Amino acid sequence: MTQITNHMPTKELQALDAAHHMHPFTADADLAKKGARIITRAKGVYLTDSEGRQIMDGMAGLWCVNIGYGRKELAQVAARQMEELCYYNTFFQTSHVPAIALAAEIAKLAPGDLNHVFYAGSGSEANDTNIRLVRRYWEVKGQPERNIIISRWNGYHGSSMGSGSLGGMKPIHAQGGLPIPDIHHIGQPYWYGEGGNMSPEEFGLARARLLEEKIQELGPERVAAFIGEPIQGAGGVIIPPATYWPEIQRICDKFGILLIADEVITGFGRTGKWFGSEVFGIKPHIMTIAKGLSSGYAPIGGSIVCDEVADTVGGAGDFNHGYTYCGHPVAAAVALRNLELLQEESILDHVNNVAHPYLNERWKALEEHPLVGEACLIGLMGSIALTPDKATRAAFATEPGTVGLRCRERCFANNLVMRHVNDRMVIAPPLVITPEEIDVFIERATKSLDECYAGLKADGLLKAAA
Ligand SMILES: *Cc1c(COP(=O)(O)O)cnc(C)c1O
Repeated sequence: MTQITNHMPTKELQALDAAHHMHPFTADADLAKKGARIITRAKGVYLTDSEGRQIMDGMAGLWCVNIGYGRKELAQVAARQMEELCYYNTFFQTSHVPAIALAAEIAKLAPGDLNHVFYAGSGSEANDTNIRLVRRYWEVKGQPERNIIISRWNGYHGSSMGSGSLGGMKPIHAQGGLPIPDIHHIGQPYWYGEGGNMSPEEFGLARARLLEEKIQELGPERVAAFIGEPIQGAGGVIIPPATYWPEIQRICDKFGILLIADEVITGFGRTGKWFGSEVFGIKPHIMTIAKGLSSGYAPIGGSIVCDEVADTVGGAGDFNHGYTYCGHPVAAAVALRNLELLQEESILDHVNNVAHPYLNERWKALEEHPLVGEACLIGLMGSIALTPDKATRAAFATEPGTVGLRCRERCFANNLVMRHVNDRMVIAPPLVITPEEIDVFIERATKSLDECYAGLKADGLLKAAA
C-alpha cells in the first residue's frame, strides 16, 4: 500500500489529492490546477502546512476547534476509550457509559428543561433528526397535518437533503432538487445588508413579523416549527437586532409552534455563554449541537430535546430513526472530556473577561479602515462588511464575493485564515486565543485589508453597485 506521510513533497500530495479526493463545496477541477493547501499539524491557534508555514487559524477549523489544537488530554481519552469499548450501538435497548455520561453533562449545561439528547454524527444529521422529530411529535399529538417547518433565507443548517432544505442557501437548493416539501423560508434579520432606511430595531421587528405573516399565509394549523441560528454563522456572522428574537419567541408562543435553535456554532462558549439562546433570551424546545461539542476532535452532534417533546415522542412506541454512530463511544468520551476541560480551565471566563474585550476593542477599530463598513463581534464570533462606500453601506459593483475572495487571498498570503461570505469577512478563532495572539491576528488582518484595498484601487474596483 502507498504510504501517505507528511514527508512526501507537497506537489505529490497535491497530485494524489486531485486524482482521488473529492472536496466538499469545491470545484475540484479548478482546485486540481492550483493544488490544495495541505495542513500537516496544528497546536493552539496555529496551523502548519506542508511547506512549513505557520498560519493563524482565525476560523477554528470550521468554527469548531473551540479548545484549540493539539490537546493531549483529548487524544488520551480517545485512545483509552478505543481500547476499552471501541464501539457499541444504542439501538436495541443497550447503552454505554460515554453516551450516558455525555448526555447527562449536556443536560446539566443546557438551560431549562432541555434534558434529553438524541445523538448524531454531525450537525446535518442532527437537523435531519429534528425534521423527523417535530413531525413525529405533532403526529403523536393527533395533528399530522402540522408538518411545515419555517426557516430563513441565508440560514445554514447543513447540506444533507433535509438540513440543506432547512437552510436557505440558494446555491445548495439549486443542485439536486432541494428543498424537500413543506419547508418554507422567510427573510433574514440582516440589517446592514437589507435594512435600508429603517433603524436596526424597526428592521428586527419587521423581519420577525415575517414569521407571523408566513404562518397566517400557510395556515397556523399546518405549521410545526420554526428553526433559526441565534446568530447566523455561515451566512456571514449576522448578529440580529435586539428586537428580533423576543418577537420570534412571542410569535412561536402565540401559535404554539416548536422553536428549534440551531446552536451548532453558537453552542459551547462561542458567544461567551454555553448557548447562543441565552444571549437573546430564547427558550427553544430543541437545540441542534455539533462542532464545538467535541471541539472538532471527533465527529459528533445531536439534538437537545425538552421534556415535553421527548416524553411525547418517547411515550408513543418506537421512533423509527437513528444512525449507526449515535452516541459513538469514542466521540462521546472525547466530547465529555472537552466539556470538562472548558469548565476546569474556565474558558468561558477567558472569553468574557480577556479575549472578547481585547479583540472587540481592536476589531471595532477596524471600522476606521477605508474598506470596512462595520465590524461586529459577539463572544468570539465576528465579521466585517467590506464596502466601497461606508456612508450608504453600499455593495460593490463587482459580482458579490469578488472582493471578499480577494481579501481572503491576501489573508492566506499573510498567514491568517479568515473566511469570506460574499463580501463579509468572518472570524471565529479558538476560544483560548491570548491577547498576544490577538495582536498578531489584528496585525495580519490589517495588512491584508491594506493590500486588498490597494489592489482594488489599482484595478479600479472600488465602485459601488448601482
Ligand atoms: C456547520 C453547521 C451545521 C452542519 O453541521 P455539519 O457537522 O457540517 O453537518 C448545521 N448548522 C449550523 C448552524 C452550522 O454552522
